[in-house]
Amino acid sequence: MLSKTELAIQNDRSLFHEFKVKSVTDGMGKSERVIKKSTNIKLGKKVTKGKLKGMPIYTVTLEERATCSNTCAHYADCYGNNMPFATRYKADTALVVSMYNELQILNSKHKDGFLVRLHILGDFYSLNYVSLWNKWLSEFDNLYVYGYSERKIGTPIGNALNLLRIKWANRFMVRVSGDFNLKTMTALSFDDKRASDQLTTKQAFLCPVQEDKTDSCGTCGLCWSTDKNVIFKTH
Ligand code: SF4
Repeated sequence: MLSKTELAIQNDRSLFHEFKVKSVTDGMGKSERVIKKSTNIKLGKKVTKGKLKGMPIYTVTLEERATCSNTCAHYADCYGNNMPFATRYKADTALVVSMYNELQILNSKHKDGFLVRLHILGDFYSLNYVSLWNKWLSEFDNLYVYGYSERKIGTPIGNALNLLRIKWANRFMVRVSGDFNLKTMTALSFDDKRASDQLTTKQAFLCPVQEDKTDSCGTCGLCWSTDKNVIFKTH
């Protein structure tokens, strides 16, 4: 008999699919938002240095595996397996309608900018979803994005993301996870020797939060201020 984790992998969904994945159409609490204020200690609530200083940090969490490519090196041991409490939103039409409405409000509220971390779990799941981010970046001047995607250049979604990366160089700072063919803008796992080689040659740097050198992304900012590759000791 398959374990719960094996079943989740086989069915391309979260280990917590039954209780922690919802559609916006299931009903939202009064103060519930898809784009949430960050409460994650490792992200921080606000940027405190660099060009985005002062911007509040928001997060979006989708369903791991259901929105991801099964080429991800961490498809089986995704850190979502250890996140039983996070609410994941189903990737459907209602999701993007809510995101648009919420972005409109955030854009008017944060005249000096706001930073959205994509995605705490999950990934860019379709070409249409990527093109919506392009549209939203055009429409909402105060929107900034950072994060990581496993969608590699050479795949349709990966190529579309790369166009956004180029077009919105200072506002769409989404790195490619686990791609050793790229010289810049990747996020790599320390446990791969090729990543440690990049540290030696200074092609990459270790995330300072994991080294206890700073508190959070908000107090660090390297992922959106340099295109040098970042290395995580845990993915
Ligand atoms: S390098 Fe800095 S910005 Fe990037 S993940 Fe680590 S703490 Fe966050």
